[in-house]
Amino acid sequence: MSVSFRDYYEILGVNRGATEKEIKTAYRKLARKWHPDLHTSKDKDVAEEKIKQINEAYEVLSDKEKREKYDRLGQNWRDGQEFRPPPEAEGYQFYTGGGAGAGASGFSDFFETLFGGESPFGHPARTGRRGPVQGQDIESELELALEEAYRGGEKSLQFTTRESCQDCGGMGVKGNAFCRRCGGTGATSDMRTLAVKIPPGVRDGSRIRLKGQGGEGSGGGARGDLYLKVKLLPHSVFKIRGEDLETEVILRPEQAVLGDQVSIPTLDGPVLMKVPPGARAGKRLRLRGKGLPHHKGRGDEYVVVRIDIPEHLTAEEEKLYRDLASLRKGV
Ligand SMILES: [Zn+2]
Repeated sequence: MSVSFRDYYEILGVNRGATEKEIKTAYRKLARKWHPDLHTSKDKDVAEEKIKQINEAYEVLSDKEKREKYDRLGQNWRDGQEFRPPPEAEGYQFYTGGGAGAGASGFSDFFETLFGGESPFGHPARTGRRGPVQGQDIESELELALEEAYRGGEKSLQFTTRESCQDCGGMGVKGNAFCRRCGGTGATSDMRTLAVKIPPGVRDGSRIRLKGQGGEGSGGGARGDLYLKVKLLPHSVFKIRGEDLETEVILRPEQAVLGDQVSIPTLDGPVLMKVPPGARAGKRLRLRGKGLPHHKGRGDEYVVVRIDIPEHLTAEEEKLYRDLASLRKGV
């Protein structure tokens, strides 16, 4: 029997000498990133496969005994390479009775080959852990329109969550049979709706914490937290420049030359702005305090001048331009 070798260090992105703490940190980071509930249907499969690999790698590298065993295979193996268990290696319990495909545990054939014989039901992951374990923290992205972020308020969000199956306690088996409720996966999906309070003025990249809305704990452990990372959507009128906003105003030539009062959109609604005479294209006019809120006030809104030439002129307008042109001749 041959299986594909898995480089657990590579999967967690740590080097071979990584400490327990480094492995744990790397694992938590990746587990948050790839939690399948946080991915849309398009990349959900990818996320599920990733999280499987990450869990498996962590299962081995976080367990002193398993890690030692794994390390003894040597460093010459590469990820995905065909792996055959060395015939007389001591200290391994090669398990080759499983046949093809990942076992009910969800672990790879490679894992099963190395460690599968150690526990009943092919659930080595669960046997070693006793006592309450807090659920994972989960990070997800929260897309907000600029206006929503500026005003704040409540937004209702729907999540698909995976809970460990109540019928089989997450083992996937009941007695000698696969659990019917979860189909042997040990988990059931559930739709949850959460009302998220968005603080007014929340910025791109900031994180909103929802305590106790993360992954389910085990053995009576508390749920982890859910972190929503705010992503401001591109806006049709405003560009976001830190705490400042930028928009543009299009002036006709005579408005630019003579100056004018023009209506400008702001987050608080349109305001009248005075354009000084002689405003050149590219000039930035400032509307003080019309930007995004920050800890000591608000940023500014910058209005960039563009000048547009009228496409159609009336006979009278054209005459005026001609007069203007002859006036400028010889200046
Ligand atoms: Zn079940």
